[in-house]
Amino acid sequence: MTPALYAFTCGHLTMPFKSFLEGVDGTLKVPVPAYLVVHEKGSVLFDTGLNPHAAHEDDRYRSQVHKSHTFHVTQTELLPARFEEAGLDLGAVTHLVNSHLHFDHAGGNQLAPDVPVLVQGVELDHARAVGAPFGYVAEDFETGQSFRTLSGEHDLFGDGSVVCIPTPGHTPGHQSLKVTTAKGTYVLAGDACYLKQSLDDLHMPRFRHDEEAMLASFHLLRDLRARGATIMYGHDPEFWESVPQAPLRLA
Ligand SMILES: [Zn+2]
Repeated sequence: MTPALYAFTCGHLTMPFKSFLEGVDGTLKVPVPAYLVVHEKGSVLFDTGLNPHAAHEDDRYRSQVHKSHTFHVTQTELLPARFEEAGLDLGAVTHLVNSHLHFDHAGGNQLAPDVPVLVQGVELDHARAVGAPFGYVAEDFETGQSFRTLSGEHDLFGDGSVVCIPTPGHTPGHQSLKVTTAKGTYVLAGDACYLKQSLDDLHMPRFRHDEEAMLASFHLLRDLRARGATIMYGHDPEFWESVPQAPLRLA
């Protein structure tokens, strides 16, 4: 049996356009995605969206995030409400994988408190070293949950269907998730590639931890795309308009 894949848009952020495409003026309102992969041996949450405090217009929480970011999120858009609406069970999640530990990817880790967090070791070290104001909010990921740190590629179930693949550049330990379903291969890119245009034109965002590594990750994603994989761009508003949302299956 191949895994089922569900996608959730858990609110939006407005940010300077140049944060996504260097040199472009104005602002862009982008979706904040999370995913659930249901495999016969376990259920995998890939990224967890925003911290529930972000939906409270809680200045204390929001003040930890750079002031150039505007939050648009309500409780009904966060994972607990989305899971309930879709008839899915957060308590059934067995694996939690973070692409990286920025606030819009690890904010909801606390929603699966008994599940260990799978993250690249260099990412955890980096997040702990730099913290805010570089996109990392300690209360998002220092939840008391245990970490299972990875170093490189990791096949979650040993059958090649759900595989963490390192895609560094945005951050030192960024990873994407490659999911092989009955409908084909999907690469949940996270912030390795924000927009379809980023990949089409190899157009860098303004901020990247390591430009050379990011370019190599772009090429890896392009190769996968050329071989038929669907790339799930991390924050592409146009692309996400056509993504089926849970309870519909993406694949
Ligand atoms: Zn992001």
